[in-house]
Amino acid sequence: MNIEIAIKDACKELKKNNISSALLDSELLLSKVIKKDRKFILLNPEKKINRDDQNSFNDLIVKRSKGKPLAYLTGIKSFWKYDFKINEKVLIPRPDTEIIIEQVLDIYKNKNNVNFLEVGIGSGCIGLSILKEKKSFTATGVDLCQDCIKICTYNANKLGVSDRIKLLKSDVDNLIYRKYDLIISNPPYIKKFDLNKLEREIKNYEPKLALDGGLDGLSVTRKVIKKSSDLLKTNGKLILEIGYDQRAPVKKMLNKNNFYINDIIKDLAKNDRCIISTKK
Ligand code: GLN
Repeated sequence: MNIEIAIKDACKELKKNNISSALLDSELLLSKVIKKDRKFILLNPEKKINRDDQNSFNDLIVKRSKGKPLAYLTGIKSFWKYDFKINEKVLIPRPDTEIIIEQVLDIYKNKNNVNFLEVGIGSGCIGLSILKEKKSFTATGVDLCQDCIKICTYNANKLGVSDRIKLLKSDVDNLIYRKYDLIISNPPYIKKFDLNKLEREIKNYEPKLALDGGLDGLSVTRKVIKKSSDLLKTNGKLILEIGYDQRAPVKKMLNKNNFYINDIIKDLAKNDRCIISTKK
């Protein structure tokens, strides 16, 4: 079978199963299997595919047609300026989360030697991108999940920032007081009973630990705010990703824990997505 026919068949299969980006996904999955980039696929429709590759490709197409996210099948997701290795233990990096990086770069554009903490670092896409941009920054990243620490360590090495980040499998409770200039977090913030309403690609495949914010969706956010109040230096900043309907309760929590609010940033869909605050 040649590339053109393989792509055509795969595309038909994905469309039949309501996968909206059928053609692109087929091309990307075939490029993974034959270890060539997408351009090669587009330029060489007549090229024959060997039997092993064809079988591997068919397996991936079956998984994709059942709704497994493309990024978990390719094992890679682009975020900010970099490609991150990912697997089903980490949340797939979302474009909206890049807001946190834009804000950090803006707030600290003339500052050096900032020491920051990321709570729930996952693949490392946020914290490692910041370290890439700001060569004088140092960081600590914690996550409850050992597999996340493993994958984040891999990404830190690949991006060449591992000498500036300490990664710990730990609850944020185990950290030392008043050490950080900045804390960032994209905590799980979906209400437990709303998890079922998420798209099937999210609810069936992405890690609950990274999504489930407890009954009110704010149990982890609440904990991060409380702890950050102890862990930040005076005038240190806390930058959090929040759910579209969490602006009011999170503001209240921040005020109660000795923070003032600097800014609330909307995402591409014009929903509140990121809240920036300062420790008094
Ligand atoms: N924004 C993610 C979603 O829509 C949720 C991420 C999170 O809970 N931190 O699924």
